[in-house]
Amino acid sequence: MRAEIIAVGTELLLGQTVNTNATYLSQGLADIGVDVYFQTVVGDNAGRIVQAIELARSRAELIVFTGGLGPTQDDLTKDALADYLGKEIGIHGPSMDKIEALFSSRGMHMVESNRRQANCIQDSFPLVNDAGLAVGNALSQDGTHYVLLPGPPREMKPMFNGPAKEWILSILGEERRLYSRVLKFAGIGESSLEQALLDLIEGQSDPTIAPYAKEGEVAIRISTKAVSQLEAGARLDAAEEAIKERVGKHLYASEDIPLEEAIVRKLRATRRKLASAESITGGLFAELVTDIPGSSGEFVGGVVTYTNEMKHKLLSVPMTQLEGPDAPGAISESTAALMAERVRELTDCDYGVSLTGVAGPSESEGKPVGLVYFGIAERGKQTEVHTANLSGSRDIIRLRAAKSALYRLWQ
Ligand code: ATP
Ligand code: MG
Repeated sequence: MRAEIIAVGTELLLGQTVNTNATYLSQGLADIGVDVYFQTVVGDNAGRIVQAIELARSRAELIVFTGGLGPTQDDLTKDALADYLGKEIGIHGPSMDKIEALFSSRGMHMVESNRRQANCIQDSFPLVNDAGLAVGNALSQDGTHYVLLPGPPREMKPMFNGPAKEWILSILGEERRLYSRVLKFAGIGESSLEQALLDLIEGQSDPTIAPYAKEGEVAIRISTKAVSQLEAGARLDAAEEAIKERVGKHLYASEDIPLEEAIVRKLRATRRKLASAESITGGLFAELVTDIPGSSGEFVGGVVTYTNEMKHKLLSVPMTQLEGPDAPGAISESTAALMAERVRELTDCDYGVSLTGVAGPSESEGKPVGLVYFGIAERGKQTEVHTANLSGSRDIIRLRAAKSALYRLWQ
């Protein structure tokens, strides 16, 4: 089904209000498999609203209006559409009762224009407004479906997500809906992932496979249009399987959760506990993990040992290890190992993780920007140290460093 959004309001044309409703509605409609082909903006003018309707009817089956349902004389959407369809305007009883009750409870005098907010186009389905007074409308005529939503976003959103979406889904009926699944990857860049899956991405129209990157992680959305969850599930499973065959070792979740949440869940399932000793990331690793609600069961705490002195005082890393002409230095494999081991012992955890490196903008200890060592000390096992050469700005390097340490932990 093709859809068009018509945002009504002179303030939008004047640039006084940003048309956020159109963006919101486009996303919401895409989520249920409705393709938005056009977004139109028209002023509070009956003649021009009708022109917009005529044009939209020529290229869409569903027209979603936002704005112009209020009480004032410039709120014209219902009148313009009713005129265009040759329909009368009636009053929606429950909405009228609500308006009257509100005015009498506040001891305010109700003027005639307030009644307009209970207007309903003849034969339309009323869309209740839980956040305001103007009732929305939904109706179909001659193969075109119309949905009328209010302008204020705090009223428009609940009406769209509630009764309007339900109505749209009901007219979609047996038509196919869009189902999607997000796969999350770590330890692989967006371009390498895309490269590994190129033929799958290019060769398939359903399910579609679309990679995207966000906040130091890469994800793939696989989407399919199907008549039921069951049908969609089988197709998404098959696509996921094909992707797993290629890059399965980097896949950490088949849902849209951050890597730190996958770690917390894994630690919880295996009843393990974690502590951190951070230098380069200044506490970012601990912040990411503690952002996950309930992570206190798995993450006991951490230290930020930013200077050499603190690495020595808090973690007993020998000064001879950190400083001097022949010392490995703070940014070294051996320091990363010591930090991880010491924080694990101090906290008596199953895992100690350490991060030390150069975030930039300039080199440190003669070591290049982006060089990072992660230590992972596990109870009863040989400590592992991994090296990464990360690129990006200071912020990005720190985020990537924290995510890389999480990835090593997840492996
Ligand atoms: P009201 O009862 O407030 O008059 P209404 O349904 O008539 O509601 P409008 O008069 O068109 O809606 O707009 C009211 C306010 O809602 C605008 O001043 C603006 O702040 C916001 N608004 C309207 N349309 C949009 C839009 N497309 N995107 C974002 N905000 C909008
Ligand atoms: Mg208005």
